[in-house]
Amino acid sequence: MFESLQKKLSGVFKNLSGKGKLTEKNIKDAVREVKLALLEADVHYKVVKEFVEKVKEEALGEKVLESLTPDQEFIRIVRDSLIEIMGGNKNNKINISKNPAFIMLTGLQGSGKTTTAAKLANKYKKKGRNPLLVAADTYRPAAIDQLIQLGQDIGVPVFSGDKKDAVKITEDSKKYAQRNLHDIVIIDTAGRLHIDEIMMKELEEIKNILEPEEILMVVDAMVGQDAVNSAKEFNDKLDLTGFIITKLDGDSRGGVIISIQYITNKPVKLVGVGEKIDDLEEFYPERYVGRILG
Ligand code: GDP
Repeated sequence: MFESLQKKLSGVFKNLSGKGKLTEKNIKDAVREVKLALLEADVHYKVVKEFVEKVKEEALGEKVLESLTPDQEFIRIVRDSLIEIMGGNKNNKINISKNPAFIMLTGLQGSGKTTTAAKLANKYKKKGRNPLLVAADTYRPAAIDQLIQLGQDIGVPVFSGDKKDAVKITEDSKKYAQRNLHDIVIIDTAGRLHIDEIMMKELEEIKNILEPEEILMVVDAMVGQDAVNSAKEFNDKLDLTGFIITKLDGDSRGGVIISIQYITNKPVKLVGVGEKIDDLEEFYPERYVGRILG
């Protein structure tokens, strides 16, 4: 994970630490190298710009130039600025205060939406809750069967209604959940390869029916900057409550996880770190910055 970025940054830091006291030029050069490393990691250019301004301003201050360990000060500034850009030190929890609590999952095809729906249901089941999965991805026929299978594996019921009309499935699932005393309802909605009008309209309709506490977009970390652009589009249309970033176990370059919060102003709430049902974790920016900086 983030291997290339990590290697480049550690090269910049090593170079600084060999210099003893630092000059303004040393710092400017280091900032430029960090900038290039971030751009190569597919971090959104707006994020890189903001980051560079932040780091430069602070690192050119007296505290760094006069410090006995200026390289350490510089690393601290890079670390703190990355954490801030990724949403600070807090963890953003999923809201499930209503009964039933509706969690709507959206995202492009292949992002890991269906798998994540099951992972999430399993997490709540383990906590003693009574979740219901709703299969409303009627565009990818295999998605409904996939969710039914996953539901069977983890012992969580899956509501799929007539398997045809996503809006009707959603309406009926609401009644079904109330009748069967499900306290958490997770809806797997349709994804496409690309964003289109009809899909967005359907998602808006589903949102209006459910008034969900959470509308989370599932985003594949491996896709890079395109993923951040579609996240922005989804958020503009649906006013998301946050993101679940998947496939962080793969060799993603880091761009998505670093950029998405800053570009959309919505938090990353969970991360997918593998294909298995338990591979879903809470997201703490600090931990990921720790990994990026090695
Ligand atoms: P959907 O089209 O968005 O519903 O995507 P799926 O849930 O079918 O997932 C697509 C592929 O991504 C499947 O092979 C999943 O096993 C895989 N996948 C999902 N989440 C993760 C993850 O966090 N890590 C890895 N390595 N694979 C994942």
